Amino acid sequence: MSLTPLIVGNWKLNLSLVQALQQIEILIREMPVAGAEIAIAPVVTQLSAACLKVQGASLKIAAQNVFYAAKGAYTGEWAVAHLQELGVSMAIIGHSERRQYFAEDSKSVALKAKACIDGNLTPIVCIGETLAQRRANETQNVLLEQLEPVLEQIPENRRNQIVVAYEPVWAIGTGQHAEPEQVARVHEFLRAQVGPSTRLIYGGSVKADNAAELAAVKDVNGFLVGGASLDANSFLAIAKVFSSL
Ligand code: PEP
Repeated sequence: MSLTPLIVGNWKLNLSLVQALQQIEILIREMPVAGAEIAIAPVVTQLSAACLKVQGASLKIAAQNVFYAAKGAYTGEWAVAHLQELGVSMAIIGHSERRQYFAEDSKSVALKAKACIDGNLTPIVCIGETLAQRRANETQNVLLEQLEPVLEQIPENRRNQIVVAYEPVWAIGTGQHAEPEQVARVHEFLRAQVGPSTRLIYGGSVKADNAAELAAVKDVNGFLVGGASLDANSFLAIAKVFSSL
């Protein structure tokens, strides 16, 4: 099955509104990238302005998080419908920084993924092992523990609506990306779990100079990019490797 590559820029807690809109302007001007889908995930307070800015362009806007309940006494949260009404089309779920600093567990990640699917928002579900877990040969068990609750919520005929991002924790923001053979082994394992229709993207220190070798790995259907997405030109250089494959 041929899957459209997806390249997502996770801006995390970076960029002012003015800076974000400047980056979006460059992205819109320099796109499209043939045959690939591109999204950026700005700070939540910038989502409304970002959605207005991309109107009529193919650049998509993603949220960095979303809550699973539709409404209620959940101070500080926002629901899938709130993102929908702005024009947001995707949400990153269960990023390792949220698991680490905000105590997100696989159960709430699964509920969030289900809420996204039910509300027609594409969840980008992040999973990945720490260095200690990799060294202890626990990578596959950790990935399964994170992924299975999500898959239980999403029947096979709807798996084309989710994206799974393999993000080894030790590669995020460290400048040390996983080797192509390591990515190949994990993505082959994940493909067997999710089936043929789910896009599997890799994240962890993807840069313009390593993007081509990582994109060439079987079952790598795109990237989740942190640091290198903050500059529109470097992000586009990464995205463009998929148009030459
Ligand atoms: C991320 O935060 O999802 C990420 C992959 O970051 P970086 O590209 O900076 O490693």
